[in-house]
Amino acid sequence: MSKGLPKRSEDYSLWYNELVKRADLAENSAVRGCMVIKPYGYSIWEKMQAQLDKMFKETGHQNAYFPLFIPKSYLSKEASHVEGFAKECAVVTHYRLKTSEDGKSVIVDPDAKLEEELIVRPTSETVIWSTYKNWIQSYRDLPLLVNQWANVVRWEMRTRLFLRTAEFLWQEGHTAHAKRSEAIAETEQMLDVYATFAEEFMAMPVIKGIKSANERFAGAEETYCIEAMMQDGKALQAGTSHFLGQNFAKAFDVKFATKEGGLEYVWGTSWGVSTRLMGALVMAHSDDFGLVLPPRLAPIQVVIVPIFRSDEELEAITAKAKEFMAKFRALDISVKFDNRDTHKPGFKFAEYELKGVPLRIGLGPRDIENNTVEIARRDTLTKETVDLNKVDIDTKVKQLLEEIQANIYKKAFDYRTEHTTEVSTWEEFQEVIEKKGGFVSAHWDGTSETEDKIKELTKATIRCIPLDQVEESGHCVLTGKPSSGRVLFAKSY
Ligand code: AMP
Repeated sequence: MSKGLPKRSEDYSLWYNELVKRADLAENSAVRGCMVIKPYGYSIWEKMQAQLDKMFKETGHQNAYFPLFIPKSYLSKEASHVEGFAKECAVVTHYRLKTSEDGKSVIVDPDAKLEEELIVRPTSETVIWSTYKNWIQSYRDLPLLVNQWANVVRWEMRTRLFLRTAEFLWQEGHTAHAKRSEAIAETEQMLDVYATFAEEFMAMPVIKGIKSANERFAGAEETYCIEAMMQDGKALQAGTSHFLGQNFAKAFDVKFATKEGGLEYVWGTSWGVSTRLMGALVMAHSDDFGLVLPPRLAPIQVVIVPIFRSDEELEAITAKAKEFMAKFRALDISVKFDNRDTHKPGFKFAEYELKGVPLRIGLGPRDIENNTVEIARRDTLTKETVDLNKVDIDTKVKQLLEEIQANIYKKAFDYRTEHTTEVSTWEEFQEVIEKKGGFVSAHWDGTSETEDKIKELTKATIRCIPLDQVEESGHCVLTGKPSSGRVLFAKSY
């Protein structure tokens, strides 16, 4: 089944697209840039959502829901915000269709023109801050910690399944605070939540950092991000957390009565991760045989495939499989017993390899006789025969799942380490970006002009100014002007 999957080394981009489709994650739809997320792909997204949602609630946030449509006038209230999103906005102008005069087609009814055009939300700051105006009066109403799970639309020109789509699913947190310092602490806290999720659940190491002015969110004072490296050495912005200052409070006139009896503008944050994380998951770990899913996000963690010739054999195997399943479920390990008689074991093996199921247990008549099982690991593609007289199946499987989770993290971490290069000259910079790829750590003079010039010359952008940047005086790799620390450059998705 995995036969014919393009190789990563030959055409990474084609490999990715084919894998997303063949592993039943998603497919393109009739509308360019929009995708259908298929049940298997959606079940991975649901696992991501469940974990993130838990983490948001543990940090004191509540979910709410705001409308899909935003009055056009709202969007223009924050000047840099509208400027940043204007080119990607889908606009609703009419609310009715009618049959054409010749009766052959359906047309927009010109009499049903909206008085005020509506924007399909590209992000919800404006509609949410216009609501917060009514919700916030006094310091007692703060902090306001709200998250929304929703879809948004950004009319992207160059789209790619999951990584960049015109409509995508995401969560957007929008918080309001009495103090600047509290809002900054919130921005940093949510960045930490994202980093923990990426590393501990997606098994994907990330660099926490701050965006340069060029890459900052439209309307933010500071954008924090997590940046991950894909297996082709390109960077992917995996999540962002914005300190909005008082920009939206001023645009929507959201003030609060302070404890001391004054009246002040509220401080804001917003933060989001999207279905792009699905693409990151695929690109960070998968191989030429298919998906490699981290156990903590795999919808099926263990699959049991019976190998049988007769009904009697299947019966004995089924009894054993049921015993296993009960034990696994008691440990919260998700398991599937694939007893379909319409497909051969070899076909099933390939299918689960393609779908990235972390562990596969093969059970045949011999195993029943000897009290053994064969366990195959998806990450290393190795198999071992386990003697059940000596080890418990549930303990063994639990331990293997933990090992896989740690192993794929380490593999991604080592790859990133090998593909992070410190350079000090422009020649080195160009050579590494062109030939080796990955992150290039270099001095930069801090100006947008230099960043633009570097992008123009090499296609590399500043991915972030790492939060753990060490102070080190040096000279900008392009202009030779003074710099106080290294930043990370890379070509990115
Ligand atoms: P932003 O609101 O621009 O900070 O984006 C929030 C999150 O959505 C980030 O994690 C982005 O990586 C992600 N994102 C932005 N644009 C897209 C897109 N077109 N498709 C999928 N994810 C996106």
